[in-house]
Amino acid sequence: MSELIKLLPDHIANQIAAGEVVQRPASVVKELIENAIDAGATKINLIAKDGGKTLIQVIDNGSGMSTLDARMCFERHATSKISTADDLFHLHTKGFRGEALASIAAIAHVELKTKLETEDLGTIITNEGSKIKSQEPCSAPTGTSISVKNLFYNIPARRNFLGSNLTEYKHVLSEFMRVALVHHEVEFTFHNNGDLIYNLPIAGLRQRIVGVFGDKYNNRLVPVNEETDIFKVTGFVTKPEFARTSRDQMYLFVNNRFFKDSYFNHAVQSAFDGMIPSKKFPPYFLYFEVPTESIDVNVHPTKTEIKFENRQEIYSMLRASIKQALGQFNISSTLDFDQENAFNIPSLKKGEIVDAPVIKVNNDFNPFQTNTISQTTSYPKTNSPFSSKTTSQIKPDVTSWENFYEASKANQTTDTQLEFDSTPNENGEVLIQSKMDNSFDSNTKPPYQLHNKYIISPIKSGFIMIDQYRAHSRIIFDDLINNWSHDVVKSQQLLFPESFEISATDLVYFKEIEDKLKTVGFDLTVKDNKIINITGVPVDYENESPKLLIENVLAKFKESQQDQDVDFKTVCAKAFANAKAIKKGVKLTIEEMQHLIDALFGSSNPQTSPSGKTIIVTYSLDDITKKFN
Ligand code: ADP
Ligand code: MG
Repeated sequence: MSELIKLLPDHIANQIAAGEVVQRPASVVKELIENAIDAGATKINLIAKDGGKTLIQVIDNGSGMSTLDARMCFERHATSKISTADDLFHLHTKGFRGEALASIAAIAHVELKTKLETEDLGTIITNEGSKIKSQEPCSAPTGTSISVKNLFYNIPARRNFLGSNLTEYKHVLSEFMRVALVHHEVEFTFHNNGDLIYNLPIAGLRQRIVGVFGDKYNNRLVPVNEETDIFKVTGFVTKPEFARTSRDQMYLFVNNRFFKDSYFNHAVQSAFDGMIPSKKFPPYFLYFEVPTESIDVNVHPTKTEIKFENRQEIYSMLRASIKQALGQFNISSTLDFDQENAFNIPSLKKGEIVDAPVIKVNNDFNPFQTNTISQTTSYPKTNSPFSSKTTSQIKPDVTSWENFYEASKANQTTDTQLEFDSTPNENGEVLIQSKMDNSFDSNTKPPYQLHNKYIISPIKSGFIMIDQYRAHSRIIFDDLINNWSHDVVKSQQLLFPESFEISATDLVYFKEIEDKLKTVGFDLTVKDNKIINITGVPVDYENESPKLLIENVLAKFKESQQDQDVDFKTVCAKAFANAKAIKKGVKLTIEEMQHLIDALFGSSNPQTSPSGKTIIVTYSLDDITKKFN
């Protein structure tokens, strides 16, 4: 019987290994930058084209390689970093498998140029699909430059599987950020398609985080420092009020290696218990140092999973140190999420004379009338391209919205979970008593505003609570969508153009919508790939913060990425409505509340805000009666 088992040729073995090591261009970026760091580089330049699909190049000023090493490095299991199995437990380098360059060369066109400091000439080698195509001496600066072109050129299935240039770029960017965030002692630059995305000089940790995420982070960071025998943590968490709806800025590093660990994420999250709303996540940048032998990084080739010997102890220490950091900075004690009505009283300096406060009240103010429009709480004006109607004009034909409401409510479940303010105040009593009278006509009972946030309005079967902000968002949203489909969108030039900086990640999204923003009335330019200069805004929005409008549009655009069907104007209308709607905390007159209720019930969907949140909660008499049992 003939033997069936054969050893695979090297280039096939390399291709198989590449399947694990190189998932996408970002994996190449990670491996090349890590090699540069292991080589002791203090300056690393990353250049990418088309999100790394066409080119990834990493240039470093590290040790460089000898001619022989330059050839050897493409062999599988060729590494200068470990030589015994024991070394695996005393790793001080990022790499150790000796797999990366061999795998990359198996599936791309690679050019390596490298020179040792002690040599006059360097070596240039080209390798295509694991085959050395050329090798020559060359002049080169000390260090190494590796360019990787046409990734997966010989594995069409993998190449087709890659995402769009933008998707791949986002992955490259996040890999770059992970390394940049931990190696602040290294200078980094990053160019994508010729644009300078990052230029990060050597800096302290705090400056590096700020360099990566933008100046606004400087005031957000709270330092964390704790050291015990088995574990040391340094770094920063952000103040609770900067918690985000996404988990994208939760960074954990151990011995300078980025890793993911939901158990430790939970430790951090739980230190914020009671300080941040559920489903919000505080950004953090935490750097663990543990004895090298107490972790195993050899779990997976991409190495973002790490086994810890002292998991539980670290969990408790981590949690405690963050609690302490938040406490030390007086964050936990001063927190109050309901500050809208709170006064901020600054402390008096000695000898300072303070004038009695003057409160200016515009008694004629009515955000729902066009002639007395307030800038922050107004509905779109008439003659606006966004709104050809005022709220009173869009008031529905429904003479009694309650009937309309009762009908629409029929197939809707009642939410009795929400608690209402049952403090025995005068209004509260009146309100509940009036519900007991089943025969009242709600049209004659004025609505009542609770905590300047919710409008309570009696209906025959109980009462409803309306979230004023969401209700107004719905009305503005409908108005915008309606008007955008009819009118030409106009732009209003700003007297004082406004500039602001955006993060590299946001810039990616921004570039995608830059032209579209012009179609809804923005006039803007981008400077230095990070400053947005706004010279014109949509008519009627000149008194909103242009920065807030753009940020809102970007946030909504990001959310809409999951959903291919959403068009840009819908995204913008949501963002504009969020920016312009009357905020919680704004006091409304009875007339304003009535207008709001009328307009809401004339809108396309009174129950749900443009972002899909509940606008109205119903309390039936039955619910109320049960509470008194
Ligand atoms: P590993 O990093 O796991 O050792 P790699 O395949 O990434 O494996 O690299 C193989 C070897 O090539 C490294 O051990 C190192 O000696 C050498 N090498 C790779 N990149 C560089 C670089 N930028 N500068 C100097 N040496 C390098
Ligand atoms: Mg390596």
